[in-house]
Amino acid sequence: MTQPRVAILGLGIMGSGMAGRLLAAGFPLSVYNRNRDKAKPLADGGAYVAGTPAEAASRAEIVISMLADDVASREIWLGENGALKGAVVGTVLVESSTVSGLWIRELATAAAERKCDLLDAPVTGSKAQAAGGELVFLVGGPERALEIAKPALSVLGNRIVHFGASGSGSTMKLINNFMSGVQGAALAEAIAFIDASGLNREKALSILVNGAPGSPMVKTLVTRAAAGDFTPNFVLRLMAKDLSYAIKEGSDHHVDLRTAAAALAIFKQAIAAGYGEKDFSAVIEATANGAKKLAS
Ligand code: NAP
Repeated sequence: MTQPRVAILGLGIMGSGMAGRLLAAGFPLSVYNRNRDKAKPLADGGAYVAGTPAEAASRAEIVISMLADDVASREIWLGENGALKGAVVGTVLVESSTVSGLWIRELATAAAERKCDLLDAPVTGSKAQAAGGELVFLVGGPERALEIAKPALSVLGNRIVHFGASGSGSTMKLINNFMSGVQGAALAEAIAFIDASGLNREKALSILVNGAPGSPMVKTLVTRAAAGDFTPNFVLRLMAKDLSYAIKEGSDHHVDLRTAAAALAIFKQAIAAGYGEKDFSAVIEATANGAKKLAS
């Protein structure tokens, strides 16, 4: 059976891994990235490098975007040479970036005007899972579009969960990352507290990591902080973005996400201290250093 033609828009940490995975699985692939240099390794692997999002979309039956935020997604789908201009009738559009519900609703309407279906299909998993085909897709949108997108999504992920109507996948993703962000911020404060109180950090963390607070998120962050390696898997400023989208969406549903607001303040402080482009685990170092400064 011939594989569908796929386009990937956005070759950052996640998009480049996903594109590499599709190429390795033999999908005819077109790619677009604002900074063209990032497409070079994929071109070497056989991908077609499009000059505009519209051109990439015109060459595909399934168009997947993996971009930073609402602003980037709007630019790539609806900008001057945006993907919607190139998408032929019936193309399945997959927004896998973590974006707001408000934007998904607007994009779904624009897609429908173009006689295309939109799936919101953000993911859990990070850099390694994107490159290894182990993402989990949280999907909203029409079942018929999901059936068309499945051959590509099932190469990129090992689980696809369809939540229902358009926007429902995005809502689930924001809930997931709001909890992850809160856990990261709580850990950062716990470590600042451990240091300030003179407890042995290693011994104290072994209690937290092996006890009730030791979630997979807490374990991952503790490992990264112990190694002192803040090479981005997920940049800190994007976690702040997810928390702010979650707060807005919670509020639209009359739920006041107070823990998310507290976590966002901690991530914003880390950004102000220059940690925005580091891995989000650097919130630990930023918070510990901030507490030390206050004490001195
Ligand atoms: P990233 O490495 O920072 O890549 C961001 C991508 O967005 C790049 O392709 C960048 O293009 C593009 N972009 C940013 N602003 C743009 C603009 N104004 N116009 C056009 N393109 C723009 O981010 P990532 O880690 O791959 O994350 C991508 C999405 O997946 C985000 O929504 C993130 O929240 C979500 N996500 C990330 C992870 C993770 O662990 N990393 C996990 C799950 C979900 P340039 O290269 O030209 O800058």
